[in-house]
Amino acid sequence: MPNRDYVGRFAPSPSGPLHFGSLVCALASFLDAKRNGGVWRVRIEDIDPPREDPKHSATILAQLVNHGLQWDGEVVYQSQFLKDYQRVLDRLQTRQLTYACQCNRKRITQLGGVYDGHCDALDLADADRAIRLRVRQAIAPCTITIDDQVMGHHYQDLLREVGDFVLRRRDGLYSYQLASVIDDHRQGITHIVRGSDLLSSTPRHRYLQQCLGYSAPDYAHLPLAVDLHGNKLSKQNHAAPLNHAAPSKTLWQALAWLQQDPPKALLGAPVEAVIAWATAHWSLGRVPNVPQQPSPTDT
Ligand SMILES: [Zn+2]
Repeated sequence: MPNRDYVGRFAPSPSGPLHFGSLVCALASFLDAKRNGGVWRVRIEDIDPPREDPKHSATILAQLVNHGLQWDGEVVYQSQFLKDYQRVLDRLQTRQLTYACQCNRKRITQLGGVYDGHCDALDLADADRAIRLRVRQAIAPCTITIDDQVMGHHYQDLLREVGDFVLRRRDGLYSYQLASVIDDHRQGITHIVRGSDLLSSTPRHRYLQQCLGYSAPDYAHLPLAVDLHGNKLSKQNHAAPLNHAAPSKTLWQALAWLQQDPPKALLGAPVEAVIAWATAHWSLGRVPNVPQQPSPTDT
């Protein structure tokens, strides 16, 4: 029987196929779940259609299977839960924790990333406007410390560093912050292992969890995978696609990157053997907390 006290997940958006950096996140969250006898879920975060293509969902799932990362249960697609997001948003609105914002992109940019609450007093109608969550009302503590299992203490003063944040965009799309917090709660996620590019979002997630009375999962944020020039490997930076013909080699490289010290003899072993070794030897404590470059495997 799986350990129901550990439910992990991998939650990619279908904005492109997996690359080395996103595969590392999938592998680490899979191994941490399996090492703890837990459940590992896959959730496709497909709620930003202008930036996505459904064909990438199928590609991502095929890439996971090809690398031996088999999920538990059904794959969840966020696009099937839009009514849930609206229901929770309605609840927050009923409690007068939100307000409509008509600020344009230029004004938001000029504010430098910290919203000043300008529209709070205007009492605007919701239609065709962004909906923001009131942080300044401080219904929950807005100074937040995350005890991250890899990155250590991460402190953020939401009021000073973020301000009231968007839950639904002007174009009607739900924010990543709102949807992922609701889904982690609905799916009973207890442990989140993901890339450190999301660490700055985590205090907003914790704040929302507090507003909604949700319990907080444990967090582990992995360092970024970077290229030789220190740039993040990402779809935007045209990171090299995964080699579908050599999943074992990629897994070995990912394990080395995660400083799990895979034996050289494992290089080129069947995928199942690499995953079995990696699960038996997985140690979150070994994962580095500074950006890493993929190491060459041509030895
Ligand atoms: Zn505004």
